[in-house]
Amino acid sequence: MPRFFVDPAAICGDYISLDTETLSHIHVLRLSPKETFIVCDGNGQDYCCTLEGDTAKVVSISANEAEPKTACIVLLAYTRGERMDYAIQKSVELGAAEINLFPAERCVVKYDGKSLPKKLARWEKIALEAAKQSGRGRVPAVVAHTSFKEAMQKAAQTDLALFFYENEADRTLRMALDNTQNAQSISLVIGPEGGFTSDEVTLSAVLGLSPVSLGKRILRAETAPVAALAAVMFWLGE
Ligand code: SAM
Repeated sequence: MPRFFVDPAAICGDYISLDTETLSHIHVLRLSPKETFIVCDGNGQDYCCTLEGDTAKVVSISANEAEPKTACIVLLAYTRGERMDYAIQKSVELGAAEINLFPAERCVVKYDGKSLPKKLARWEKIALEAAKQSGRGRVPAVVAHTSFKEAMQKAAQTDLALFFYENEADRTLRMALDNTQNAQSISLVIGPEGGFTSDEVTLSAVLGLSPVSLGKRILRAETAPVAALAAVMFWLGE
């Protein structure tokens, strides 16, 4: 069923006003007056609606069931074009609560104050479309950091911070998860195509993040978040 996100302020009793972009999308779908679609307030409430003129008439309201109970924040080093798009899209489909992007020494792509805002708008759109497609109850925010340290400090604020390091030989993801009780928030930190430098590993350890392995095979920068998030969601029973 088609899904659209609105600002909660657009919801007034049994009617929801629709912005022009959403309306034109609904018109493209050529929904009959009886056909329903979902309008989501971005806070986990789903409104099953029919179209009445240019507004949505609420038929029923239900709590969205697609939001994981544990907030998983995915932190990705900037990677090239479609790889970044893919990693963001899959992280949303897999239930990420928020996506943070950060610069690292060995990133092959560097964004500055000029190029970043345009890229961020594109990534936010990718997150919105993936949230619609996957039936999410909220659209994960995309946060673009300008420093590695700032992103690691953000990751360190969660109950469990998983710093995925390709050269970690001892601590497996299973060990890290099995040693964790009642984590309400988990961060998953993934490095760039060129991997993390030893200085970055040291700094992240000083900030409280300990390295975790995803196994003996080296995963691509866009594969690692998918594998890691899928494994964590499996462990969470989500
Ligand atoms: N350039 C590195 C190399 O060849 O060893 C590979 C970096 S990998 C393409 C990008 C990121 O994915 C890594 O920095 C890490 O965060 C994550 N990653 C990939 N494979 C991993 C593994 N087996 N264990 C832990 N993290 C992994």
